[in-house]
Amino acid sequence: MLTDPSLQESARRWRERDLAVLWHPCTQMREHPDVLPLVPVERGEGAWLFGYDGRRYLDGISSWWTNLHGHAEPRIAQAIARQAGVLEQVILAGFSHAPAVELAERLLAIAPRQEGRAPLAKVFYADNGSAGVEVALKMAFHWFRNRGEARRTKFVALENGYHGETLGALAVGDVPLYRRVYAPLLAQALFTPSPDAYQAAPGESPAQCAQRAADALADLFDRHPGEICAVILEPRLQCAGGMRMHDAAYLRRVRELCDASGAFLVADEVATGFGRTGTMFACEQAGIAPDLMCLSKGLTGGFLPLSAVLATQMLYDGFLDDSRERAFLHSHSYTGNPLACAAALASLDIFASDGVLERNRATAARMAELAAPLAAHPHVADLRQAGMVLAFELTRGGDRATPFDPALRVGLRAYRAALERGVLLRPLGDVLYWMPPYCVDDAQLRLLAEATGAAIEDATACA
Ligand SMILES: *Cc1c(COP(=O)(O)O)cnc(C)c1O
Repeated sequence: MLTDPSLQESARRWRERDLAVLWHPCTQMREHPDVLPLVPVERGEGAWLFGYDGRRYLDGISSWWTNLHGHAEPRIAQAIARQAGVLEQVILAGFSHAPAVELAERLLAIAPRQEGRAPLAKVFYADNGSAGVEVALKMAFHWFRNRGEARRTKFVALENGYHGETLGALAVGDVPLYRRVYAPLLAQALFTPSPDAYQAAPGESPAQCAQRAADALADLFDRHPGEICAVILEPRLQCAGGMRMHDAAYLRRVRELCDASGAFLVADEVATGFGRTGTMFACEQAGIAPDLMCLSKGLTGGFLPLSAVLATQMLYDGFLDDSRERAFLHSHSYTGNPLACAAALASLDIFASDGVLERNRATAARMAELAAPLAAHPHVADLRQAGMVLAFELTRGGDRATPFDPALRVGLRAYRAALERGVLLRPLGDVLYWMPPYCVDDAQLRLLAEATGAAIEDATACA
């Protein structure tokens, strides 16, 4: 697809300047620009990204799962501009500001609730998902230390889980590509089998698979009595692990097991929060509430980095003391940044004014309809969906026992093929998925489906 030569020249120049100075995230830089095209983006609007090359790209992955209501959404942009003219940043130790207070009130009001359980009652801010995870882990550990339970030092995490890239978050992550190199640096966590329905044994239902994984967790608790301070997991959907989904019954069992052993349950809703899986938070689908909940990514509608860790009153109270050592002395310079909080408040307003969750139900149904023909492709397996996330595996003959040779880089081929058709997909290995901004319209969804179909053809033709 050719565009104006002067625009092509402009894009070329940006690429050159970029590669002269930038080191990109999650990228083997040697692949730029020959194996991996580099797309300089000038502006965004709704679900579109507009390149300097004069082409537009449909953002099929919400720019790493952050964007909710569309790029450059005017109401959020205005809220940030307004706040910037009033108060851009203030130290949050000893000082306070309205957006931080208001956002905390509103997050607590919509947080998952469970009958008979004290609700989440306090909000601690950090500035990205990984930092939020670190906060939750440190809080859980420190709470037991304050209680004199010095043996409670172990974290349980799920196989195939992902919680971020900093060393503490990486220690409870189990995606080999990100973890393996740094393994010698990482604190020891206890890993328990994932309830991932794709890994079900032959003939096993997703519910049975979840049951088996929960039994394994029960065994783990038995083997480490009084040693586990928290279980951390991504409820309903292991995102970076390949958009793998599990039965909600698993979460109810985990909740019970944590309660029985006195360990905390940390729900990492960094990616699943804010309507991604169909409900405001994924925990709601199991009817459970966690002791700690991490939010980031969509928190600001995808505009600014911010994370929030929600904790119960009991957790909070465990730090009240005359000693400073017993306090939670964790901070980040930009903790609770007013601009980010203002963006988050504007995003929550949009949920209410635009009836976003309800509209998403119709959008999700349309996604299912458009994806159904893709499931019939001979190399497609396990097309699955949770709300605004739809995913499937590319595997030889559609058989989970015969994945494609990783050297073929089927996912990368799909990425390039979709990009040529004006759609940004970013497969996780050989898993293709759709996670569009919520404002995506029908014509855009049709383009997404067409480009995905073509990408599957191109990617698997080599194999
Ligand atoms: C992305 C992600 C994180 C890390 O968030 P960053 O802002 O990228 O540090 C943590 N947990 C989950 C479940 C995520 O998807």
